[in-house]
Amino acid sequence: MRILLALALLAATGPGGLVAAPPQRRRDGEGAVLGAPSLSVQPARVRPGDAFLVRARGLGAPPAGTVAGRPLRFFPVPGGYEAVAALTLETAPGTLAVRVTEATSAAPVRLSAELEVAEPHFPSKTLTVAPRFVEPSPEVRARVEEDRAAIARATDVPFVPPLFRGPFAWPRPPAFTGRYGDQRVYNGRLASQHYGLDFRGAPGDPVRAANDGVVVLRRDCEASGLTVIVHHGAGIFTSYFHLSRALVREGERVERGALLGAVGSSGRATGPHLHYSVRVGDLFVDPASLMRLDLGA
Ligand SMILES: [Zn+2]
Repeated sequence: MRILLALALLAATGPGGLVAAPPQRRRDGEGAVLGAPSLSVQPARVRPGDAFLVRARGLGAPPAGTVAGRPLRFFPVPGGYEAVAALTLETAPGTLAVRVTEATSAAPVRLSAELEVAEPHFPSKTLTVAPRFVEPSPEVRARVEEDRAAIARATDVPFVPPLFRGPFAWPRPPAFTGRYGDQRVYNGRLASQHYGLDFRGAPGDPVRAANDGVVVLRRDCEASGLTVIVHHGAGIFTSYFHLSRALVREGERVERGALLGAVGSSGRATGPHLHYSVRVGDLFVDPASLMRLDLGA
């Protein structure tokens, strides 16, 4: 009995007794010693429809995680991993938790951070228009559907790390005629919300690439007119609508500031302007929010 008790005590404490083994230094895939694991969000306060940057440091393997139920797509950066993420326009104001888990089987590190979502106060515009503009004909509807399918095919690309190295730039000088999130109430009914930013411009004025990337679509569309879409990696696409001219072809690599085409009023535009939109994953975000991210920092 006494021997059994002694053996049981030995098994419980182990050969080293109650002294814990020194903690193992955590190393990354290349063998470099890692700092303390941390998770941060930039900026810490956003509006619904904004893009933001999630930064994980001190992890030996890429993290996986979600925010507001949407998966984060991480890519490696010096010293850690980053993901460009976004919130839907319908996100309720309040505090959101960002949670990630290191994707290793043995003792994965779990990290969390908080994201403050502010009340957006999107302006509302009430318009009275002829019913034909609110209810398009079956022919127009079919062409819009074909355009939608072509855009879906063009942007159905595998996730890749950023194809750019620095921050995003405006495609035109920043003078706006329409803001992201503007609500349009047609004939007393909330018909649409503006998923882009409208830049002032005269026909023929230059439209430039917001960052380095690859042209994935150049198409004459029913609603958006002559349209160019650029894929930037990190799940980011920029779109340029209503062009009078397009100077790039599909598959072409472009650099930030490269001339893509010219301002026009093609498609269903009320007058010459550039409609510019930014997609992060499957969400159209406020292009201004992308400009604030410390990308490549
Ligand atoms: Zn617009």
